[in-house]
Amino acid sequence: MKIGVLALQGAVAEHIKMIESAGAEGVVVKKTDQLPDLDGIIIPGGESTTIGKLMRDYGFIEAIRTFYEQGKPVFGTCAGLIILADEIVGQEQAHLQLMNMKVQRNAFGRQRESFETELAIKGIEERVRAVFIRAPLIKEVGAEVDVLSTHNGEIVAARQGRLLAASFHPELTNDYRMHQYFLDMVKEAKSSSVQ
Ligand code: GLN
Repeated sequence: MKIGVLALQGAVAEHIKMIESAGAEGVVVKKTDQLPDLDGIIIPGGESTTIGKLMRDYGFIEAIRTFYEQGKPVFGTCAGLIILADEIVGQEQAHLQLMNMKVQRNAFGRQRESFETELAIKGIEERVRAVFIRAPLIKEVGAEVDVLSTHNGEIVAARQGRLLAASFHPELTNDYRMHQYFLDMVKEAKSSSVQ
């Protein structure tokens, strides 16, 4: 399995390392013509307005929408989660608009710009250590969205079919189970598209 990491800006190398630890091939993605060769893609953390602008400039908005429509999974972490959302609180410009959720950027305020915690995540047996950095929150989700994790009652991870979103940075610990979870989604998507 080949999993791409969108490498326009943000935390790329760490995701590649986690993909490889979880047993797949990690591909640094800089051009849209690399997409057809991939089985899934991760949109990393960074700065969502910058990533969104670069995605538009390089044709990735349309290209990743098509990639998804062809049956391939997409995982957004932190800024990548914001990029996936249908709606961003107080912001006109949304990006991929693939996932039925409303997100708020920098939702933890100044006191808690970055912190670590242990999260219970549906589908993963033991708690996962999660690093939050100027993280977004998922404020509302549509009926087709499955909430996978909450922190203090607020949604921090969710799945909608082939779309996975996490407020935190799963690539910044030694625990690759979130990546493993995504790889399982990719496997599932691959086997159902073969029929
Ligand atoms: N605060 C960033 C944004 O709104 C996201 C932070 C991150 O990806 N660590 O884009």
